[in-house]
Amino acid sequence: MTAPDTLAAVPPRAALPAWRSLLEERWQQRLNALTELALAYHDAQESFGDGLAGTADTARPQRLLRQATAARRALGDTEEALARLSAGSFGRCEQCAGAIAATELLAEPETRYCTECVAGSWVALAG
Ligand SMILES: [Zn+2]
Repeated sequence: MTAPDTLAAVPPRAALPAWRSLLEERWQQRLNALTELALAYHDAQESFGDGLAGTADTARPQRLLRQATAARRALGDTEEALARLSAGSFGRCEQCAGAIAATELLAEPETRYCTECVAGSWVALAG
């Protein structure tokens, strides 16, 4: 039986545990990636400080820091998707409240906006 309520959970409530475990898995992967980058950054910084800078890749600490920052943001995105899942707003566009296509969610479960709104924002930026 399908409820005609357009504000029903999208994706269907029955699918939410599967989305949760998928997101939790991604969260764990992203946390691991962030931890590895943070450790690599510290190592790179230490060898930099040891006077090995002459031979070391001097851009490495900066590059690792940028990657760690991106990894932290990605981890935050997954945390927010998990929060939306708990709040019942997962899979719903934050701008127009329309349903986000399942294919979009599968490609990027952290997606916040539907394709129409994303396309609209690009048009706004281009204009
Ligand atoms: Zn939208």
